[in-house]
Amino acid sequence: MNAAAVEYELVAGIETHVQLDTKTKMFCACAVRFGAPPNSLTCPVCLGHPGTLPNLNRKALELGLRAAVALGCTIATRTKFDRKNYYYPDLPKNYQISQFDVPLATGGGIEVTTKSGARRVRIHRAHLEEDAGKLIHEEAGNRSFVDLNRAGVPLLEIVTEPDIRSADEAHAYLTSLKAILRAAGISDCDMEKGELRCDVNVSLRPKGTEALGVKTEVKNLNSFRFVKMAIEAEFKRHKAELEAGRRIVQSTLLFDSEKNETRLMRVKEGAVDYRYFPEPDLPPLEISTDEIEAVRRALPELPAAQKARFQREYGVGEYEADLLSSDRSVAAFFESAAKSSGKAKSAANWIVNEIARILNERNLTLESSKLTPASLVEILGLIDAGIVTAASAKEALARSAETGRSPAEIVRESGMATVTDSAAIEKSVDTVIAANPKAVADFKGGKDATIKFLVGQVMKATQGRVKAQAAEELLRRKLTGA
Ligand code: ZN
Ligand code: MN
Repeated sequence: MNAAAVEYELVAGIETHVQLDTKTKMFCACAVRFGAPPNSLTCPVCLGHPGTLPNLNRKALELGLRAAVALGCTIATRTKFDRKNYYYPDLPKNYQISQFDVPLATGGGIEVTTKSGARRVRIHRAHLEEDAGKLIHEEAGNRSFVDLNRAGVPLLEIVTEPDIRSADEAHAYLTSLKAILRAAGISDCDMEKGELRCDVNVSLRPKGTEALGVKTEVKNLNSFRFVKMAIEAEFKRHKAELEAGRRIVQSTLLFDSEKNETRLMRVKEGAVDYRYFPEPDLPPLEISTDEIEAVRRALPELPAAQKARFQREYGVGEYEADLLSSDRSVAAFFESAAKSSGKAKSAANWIVNEIARILNERNLTLESSKLTPASLVEILGLIDAGIVTAASAKEALARSAETGRSPAEIVRESGMATVTDSAAIEKSVDTVIAANPKAVADFKGGKDATIKFLVGQVMKATQGRVKAQAAEELLRRKLTGA
């Protein structure tokens, strides 16, 4: 059989650890805060001192429940915590309190849309567990340090079924998951703060077959882009191995984003035995259907419903509605601007185009920029009143994003207002005509498209403060003598 003729299909699953947005840790009263001095947020409980007892943070359970409901999972009416035993320097108790055979939630899923269509990524399970500490390796000194501020921080581990068939689908799944978790106030999902971490399982199988191939796991991916790159790299590597007639070895890998390749961390020799057993210091949890219903009723609008409402209520296009509903702060910004300006479509346009560009170029988010819905409303008003051209409006908005100053003020102070004085426009038009004899001759010779170039020159000379339409009209009048 010619192995190279086989067409392979990607089969991937994702495990996501999401930090639940609580003020204190899962089993003690220590504060949860990013960037605090090492080991300043610790106590005997999270340091694993003998004789201490864990005490469940109800808020962590509530947020876990909310996530499970938002993801359409089935919630266990009786669940429990278990000890996952292993030895590692970032784990002072030598066990992690997690959930083993009776997770908080099973089933559910997320609808994802990519270029190849819509598919459902099913959720296998979601369980509560505590985070471990963090090891900091000092390369120069060949030393390592332990910071236990993160030990005991509440997490929800969300595991999908192996339903993902492309790197794009993995990206779409994570984007939707993040949007849902943020919209429902479950987690900020700030990956730079480690609030969302992903492990990806990858295997290949000949297209059209059902049995799963041998999988490898890429650990600790801290950006959606790296998830995509790691899946693509693993697909290529598996394919090359299989085509060379070699077998895939079940293993755990790390992704090197600079080399764009995976690196072996350890080979799995049989399943690791964590010797799970029920946590004796925490009673099992009973979750009533009333409780679940209350969580369901209190759930805020989720991105999919919001997207549909933006299309219906504001007449926004599907593409715009999708982008606007993909993040709660963008959605809130849009709705506020749409309501107070009464110009929903323009507001949507400006947000998905200009504002996205401004933020992108400055490496800002809507939250970290100084833009407010009020500044966008001002801009839309200035354009409508003919006070600024689109070019000047963009410039004023960009400056407002950096300084937080009112766009109207920026326009007034920096003389960006549209030149409506006809003598001034005429002067620029005359200058442009005099300076571009070739283009003028071309236009007069019948090349009508040359007018666009001349209009561009007028715009350039006036720094975009003249309305293109006014410039074109005047140019035509002067050049045709009409
Ligand atoms: Zn503590
Ligand atoms: Mn875990």
